[in-house]
Amino acid sequence: MYINNGASPRDARAQDDDAVRLDALVVGAGPAGIGTALALAAVDGLTFGVLERGRVGQSFRDWPAAQTFLTPSFTGNGFGASDLNAIHPETSPAFSLGVDYPTGPQYANYLRGVVKHFRVPVMEHAAVEAVRALDDGFELDTERGPVRTRSLVWAGGEFGDPRAPRLPGAGFAVHSSAPEAWGERGGAVVVIGGYESGVDIACHHIARGATVTIIDPDEPWDRRPGSDPSFRLAPRSRMRLRAAFETGRLHPVPERVVAVKADGDGFTVRLADGRMVRGDSAPIAATGFGPGLGPVAHLFEEREDGWPLLDEDDGSTLAPGLFLSGPSIRHGGLRFCFVYKFRQRFAHIARRIGERAGKDTSALEAWRAAGMLTDDLSCCGVECEC
Ligand SMILES: Cc1cc2nc3c(=O)[nH]c(=O)nc-3n(C[C@H](O)[C@H](O)[C@H](O)COP(=O)(O)OP(=O)(O)OC[C@H]3O[C@@H](n4cnc5c(N)ncnc54)[C@H](O)[C@@H]3O)c2cc1C
Repeated sequence: MYINNGASPRDARAQDDDAVRLDALVVGAGPAGIGTALALAAVDGLTFGVLERGRVGQSFRDWPAAQTFLTPSFTGNGFGASDLNAIHPETSPAFSLGVDYPTGPQYANYLRGVVKHFRVPVMEHAAVEAVRALDDGFELDTERGPVRTRSLVWAGGEFGDPRAPRLPGAGFAVHSSAPEAWGERGGAVVVIGGYESGVDIACHHIARGATVTIIDPDEPWDRRPGSDPSFRLAPRSRMRLRAAFETGRLHPVPERVVAVKADGDGFTVRLADGRMVRGDSAPIAATGFGPGLGPVAHLFEEREDGWPLLDEDDGSTLAPGLFLSGPSIRHGGLRFCFVYKFRQRFAHIARRIGERAGKDTSALEAWRAAGMLTDDLSCCGVECEC
């Protein structure tokens, strides 16, 4: 079973388009896609489905084995405090997995459990290859054949779009999302980028006996003001960092890398101030991810900072009916890069899609009652007093 009216995308093509066209299609079966589908399920009579190029939670299955969540899971549901990593108010990864910082495969298992429990209509191994905007919706070319939908939610995630540093010799660096970046590396290791993924992998190699130089002109390891974890290292990362500094083998360098080159049996990175830092293995680029818009990239305008420009409903400004769900959502200075942030928009997107289809969306208010619906973004920028 793939689509909740019982028709697969291929069936949809074989029959009369109007009779089988979906109200909504979600691309991507990560937390953003599954979570949005759960909210869509609350809209009475909506036909919808999820297409996934791999398996449910594929990005998490692809995470390096040693990588874990940095946001903790804890079951506080009975007291109005949903697990930070949950995508539905009645679920908790801490409860179903019995761990507080899940690995990628563990979290993928949580997602699979949610899909099974709520019977989310997901079609696996159904990559979306091309998307065309029509007058009244979208036509998609998928690995399983074409399909049409009135509204489309792109939830393809960022993991498939690792961002390499833009500098000469960048090809020598290995991205922090690649399993080889986490493999055994003795001697001197160089990490370019000092935010969460840089600190994570630096601490990983320190714990295995390496000496690590971590380079970032913004010195994220030293940043104090602000209570938004999108701009400040998480407490767990700061704890790990303190322990790493105590070894005497972690060297932070507040400078910009301008070039990488091979150097005998090692590699050298050149800094903007002319200094050189040598590593015994290829430098690790902990330089983050792009928005990963793939086949819908041409349907979004770009903000000045390169992230997709969205209307206030997380919709495309170019293609009405196309929505973005997941960590690439940005509104002004707000970033929705963690599960507990972007899940606040699942029900909002579902409501807009339900309204487009002329359906009753009132059941979505249950998401607000459960603390998982934020439609007034003016309240998101609060600072903790102490
Ligand atoms: C290294 C790392 C660590 C992170 N740690 C945390 C954390 O601790 N806490 C937290 O809250 N957030 C964390 N995040 C951020 C965020 O939670 C993740 O990025 C999360 O995976 C985003 O969910 P998603 O559903 O948008 O994307 P994904 O989980 O990447 O899911 C997208 C899915 O779309 C599929 N897909 C892509 N393109 C297509 C296509 N063309 N056709 C069909 N399917 C397609 C992919 O196969 C994938 O299954 C982390 C991110 C990264 C990269």
